[in-house]
Amino acid sequence: MSKIKVLIVGGGFAGVKAALKLVNHPEINLTMLSDDTSLRYYPTLYRVATGGSSAEANIPYESIFRDSNINLVKGVAKTIDRQNRQIITDEGKSYEYDFVILALGVVTNYFGIPGLSDYSFSIKSQAEAQRFKKHLHQQLIDTGRPDTNYLIVGAGPTGIELAGALPAYLKRITKSHGLDVKHLNIALVEAMPRLLPNLSKTTTRQVSKRLHQLGIKLYLNSKVEGQSADALTVNGRPLPSQTVVWTAGVTNHPFFKDNNFVIMGRGKVGVDAYLQTEPKIFVVGDNANTPFSGMAQTALHDGEFVANNLIKSLKGEMYSSYEVKKPTTVIPVGPNWAVVERGNFHLKGRLGSLIRESADLKGFKDLEPLGSATQQLLRQFSVEDYCQICATALARY
Ligand SMILES: Cc1cc2nc3c(=O)[nH]c(=O)nc-3n(C[C@H](O)[C@H](O)[C@H](O)COP(=O)(O)OP(=O)(O)OC[C@H]3O[C@@H](n4cnc5c(N)ncnc54)[C@H](O)[C@@H]3O)c2cc1C
Repeated sequence: MSKIKVLIVGGGFAGVKAALKLVNHPEINLTMLSDDTSLRYYPTLYRVATGGSSAEANIPYESIFRDSNINLVKGVAKTIDRQNRQIITDEGKSYEYDFVILALGVVTNYFGIPGLSDYSFSIKSQAEAQRFKKHLHQQLIDTGRPDTNYLIVGAGPTGIELAGALPAYLKRITKSHGLDVKHLNIALVEAMPRLLPNLSKTTTRQVSKRLHQLGIKLYLNSKVEGQSADALTVNGRPLPSQTVVWTAGVTNHPFFKDNNFVIMGRGKVGVDAYLQTEPKIFVVGDNANTPFSGMAQTALHDGEFVANNLIKSLKGEMYSSYEVKKPTTVIPVGPNWAVVERGNFHLKGRLGSLIRESADLKGFKDLEPLGSATQQLLRQFSVEDYCQICATALARY
């Protein structure tokens, strides 16, 4: 009997989770097509950007699917041929499916604001996090002083995590570069009247207070209008800076618009109670129009849900309906401090950061055996700067 061809497109949280559930199933011929060779563990990218090891946010597929029966293919999905049930890549290669799970994630959106795509930094990929980190060092080498302002646009979790980690990192590297810096201007720029508008006012208050303690300025109601090589224009006023990080906008992957999928609110793809958008085409994670789309926990939940339903259907059972799972939000802000929110439950401080560490360990363990997951967690203590001056200084301590 020929096997059922399941094709997963995208190897992030949702795609990998679905693959781990379906792998080695005797009735399934499983392929995962991704434009990468590793899973990007986004939640720790802010640490890579502030001196951490790149391995912290990078889990190679080879290590996740060790000895597993899966075809791992590197390629960029471009088109879906619904009639012939194929996904076609930008190189013209085609991959057939009986069932396809689309898990492509989101892309950065600059909302057409002039200059941002040319001059701002981002931390949405390894390469971008490394580029930002190199810039911080290079600027100290080139000018012999820190930037006038370090500006992070977007007071959502990513912007806040990065802002929280920057003071300690900048303090360390300016010292390594032999600079006696008394004060650093680090600011979060947010268009909305409050930070973390999707969370409770209690969390907003606690995080604002923590940022204040760390010396981070908060510009609220502040709309970015443009960027040049030396300044960010906010509410008509130029703020001098050569270090602007854009964390304020993402949009759904262009694959869906380009291939005429049904697009709903927030640009997400419309799905039914089985996360199916059309017969045998499933859309999961950040791509799907579900209430908590946009979080890693939702993506893992979606991947597992669709895989379980496919296994059910192979046994002749009916699909189960999707149940929304409310995620817990944990946001680290600076060393040994995190805020936790789940419904009406709030927590902050050192205990919050321990919760975050155990959540990361659980996240890694979901993807790898316990030994490798523990190693992955311990990478948070590694330093990686690619700066000779800092490496020499570090060796002296
Ligand atoms: C900096 C940052 C920090 C974050 N921190 C947190 C956090 O702390 N907690 C939390 O819950 N969420 C966090 N998130 C959100 C979370 O990472 C996402 O919700 C999650 O990654 C979504 O999973 P996904 O599988 O839908 O997409 P992704 O994980 O983005 O995976 C998409 C996959 O598709 C691949 N791909 C893209 N285009 C193509 C193509 N054309 N062809 C083939 N493959 C393609 C990509 O390489 C990737 O493997 C963060 C996001 C960012 C950017």
